[in-house]
Amino acid sequence: MGERMKTIGLIGGMSWESTIPYYRLLNEAVKHRLGGLHSAKLVLYSVDFDEIVHHQHAGNWAEAGRVMAEAARAVEAAGADFIVICTNTMHKLVPEVQAAVAIPVLHIVDALAKRLRQHGARKVGLLATRFTMEQDFYLDRLASHDFEVIVPDAADRETVHRVIYEELCQGQVREASRLAYRAVIERLGEAGADCIALACTEIALLIGEEDSALPLFDTTEIHALAAVDFSLSDLIEGGGRPC
Ligand code: GLU
Repeated sequence: MGERMKTIGLIGGMSWESTIPYYRLLNEAVKHRLGGLHSAKLVLYSVDFDEIVHHQHAGNWAEAGRVMAEAARAVEAAGADFIVICTNTMHKLVPEVQAAVAIPVLHIVDALAKRLRQHGARKVGLLATRFTMEQDFYLDRLASHDFEVIVPDAADRETVHRVIYEELCQGQVREASRLAYRAVIERLGEAGADCIALACTEIALLIGEEDSALPLFDTTEIHALAAVDFSLSDLIEGGGRPC
């Protein structure tokens, strides 16, 4: 492939509120590592999120998979060297996406696991959509990296899920929801979590370190920086200067 920056293929718009931080983080990190006027090489396929949410909530994952596969083929055809799916939940469909293209998918859980390991985390409290908190595709992948996962109880999962779709994905950041998330984090700590994974790409829009006694791991930031590492890996040993 030679010594060049790899082009990142983003599948975003889920929601677009969290694709903007991805775009900013990718460009800032490339600028930080290469200096001057350098910026990230990327292509973005941004879906109509309403269509995706409709399929998710109807349990029609086959149709959602077709949308994702089409997006993956489009970014590959546009020159992407690898794929970054800018949402945790839609990693449920990594098999469908991977089957549609010859380029690799940079899995968000693998990036998260690497960062958790670097920080010596063991028991991970998960904040995410109900799909991510309740289904095997995410929990099993984290477990395969040897982490114990603690999910909120049913009522807290409902609250966390509702705030994501009814508020954060629609650009609304509410103090009452911040307080509700703080309380959920506290209960995860009481249940034994030694850290909290923000395993939904919008959650960092609502809460930050000041809202948690436990260390927070934001998957948006972690995934974006892993993408920059991979993008620059042929160019600079180790993907350049650490951020
Ligand atoms: N962005 C969110 C996530 O990381 C949820 C939106 C979606 O359903 O993709 O899971």
